[in-house]
Amino acid sequence: MKKLVLVGGGHAHLFVLKYLLEHHLEGVQITLITPDYFQIYSGMLPGWIAGHYALENIQIDLRPWVKAAHATLMLDTMVGVNADSRSIRLVSGRVIQYDLLSLDTGSETNISGLEFIGKRLLPVKPLSNFIGTWPRLLDEIQKKPDYALVIVGGGAASVEIAFSVHFAMQKVNTHAKICLVFSETGLLASHPIKVRQQITERMQRLGIQLISHRVTGVENGVLLSNGHTVVADVVIAATGAQPPDWLSTSGLILSNDGFIAVDAFQRSVSHANVFATGDVCSRQDVSVTRSGVHAVHAGPFLAKNLCAVLSDHVLQSYQPHRSPLYLISCGDQYAVASWGKFSYRGYWVWRWKNYIDRGFVRKFSRSLQ
Ligand SMILES: Cc1cc2nc3c(=O)[nH]c(=O)nc-3n(C[C@H](O)[C@H](O)[C@H](O)COP(=O)(O)OP(=O)(O)OC[C@H]3O[C@@H](n4cnc5c(N)ncnc54)[C@H](O)[C@@H]3O)c2cc1C
Repeated sequence: MKKLVLVGGGHAHLFVLKYLLEHHLEGVQITLITPDYFQIYSGMLPGWIAGHYALENIQIDLRPWVKAAHATLMLDTMVGVNADSRSIRLVSGRVIQYDLLSLDTGSETNISGLEFIGKRLLPVKPLSNFIGTWPRLLDEIQKKPDYALVIVGGGAASVEIAFSVHFAMQKVNTHAKICLVFSETGLLASHPIKVRQQITERMQRLGIQLISHRVTGVENGVLLSNGHTVVADVVIAATGAQPPDWLSTSGLILSNDGFIAVDAFQRSVSHANVFATGDVCSRQDVSVTRSGVHAVHAGPFLAKNLCAVLSDHVLQSYQPHRSPLYLISCGDQYAVASWGKFSYRGYWVWRWKNYIDRGFVRKFSRSLQ
């Protein structure tokens, strides 16, 4: 039996499981290793914070897919890869050998410089930790009239979190303050100017304070590069992605930013029996932003390529869309679309996003035999 090991229940691996149930592989033992039965769909997390969705609306149960794909589910967390000896190490202490390895483990929130905040710091990732903490936080917000919340980050995720947190806070405490701090590169730097203006205006109208300064964490909040301190009861870090620690000792060739260097087949440039997709990797032939859109689009190609390796067939390259569509939700059921140099906004954009997001979760939520 050849051993195919999938690590992480991320977007692309959902497609792999789907493909494996449709194309049964003889003589292959398939294992999925991930810490939870459920995969949270991050695009709907802001809607969950705002109260538009229940938790069951935004998560996918991996168990039926694993079963239908004739795979084994191992609830565990990988803490080490030794690509040269074809083995991975799990937090439980187990060591698993593989013939073919596929990594779809996402990225971590970069909290460097914010560690001094201590218990008041809440990184967005892991999402399961954020989801476990947010209801308690909302309770605290309700009880403390002058509650102050700071969000650090300038990308689409931080913007969506700021809007949704504001929306949820308003329902329980209209005096609570919220501030979004981002670096000098600006808010939504990679998006068209019109999108940036619309988002900024909307935030200002809602009373979300915007501060453009580098920050470091201090015990009572964040210290701005101009020397001022913004005091906070909690600081949510929605900063950029950082690679997990275990990559540095994996023996895999990494990109300049520390992620797994992969080619157009999503295959490691150093180890032909290791594939990586989504946030955990960096394509070497083309620049790809870290977003769920790309993890989703690469999924079907990854699935075919893993099967192609196991059956000696030709691999297919995945060409990422140059201008993927981003739909940025704004707390209430309003959203801004950012697509290439175009932008659209309105309640209809939110309904459009809702339709796409619910469709994705529904696609992977039907019961299987
Ligand atoms: C609030 C928010 C909103 C976002 N909205 C959007 C959006 O609207 N559109 C968009 O394109 N992108 C969005 N993103 C970005 C998007 O979340 C990521 O780019 C995307 O999730 C990456 O997918 P992935 O498959 O690489 O990993 P993930 O979706 O992060 O999945 C990784 C999986 O691996 C598991 N795992 C992690 N580490 C290990 C380990 N060591 N061992 C075993 N299993 C492990 C995790 O539990 C998880 O199941 C958003 C991000 C956030 C934070």
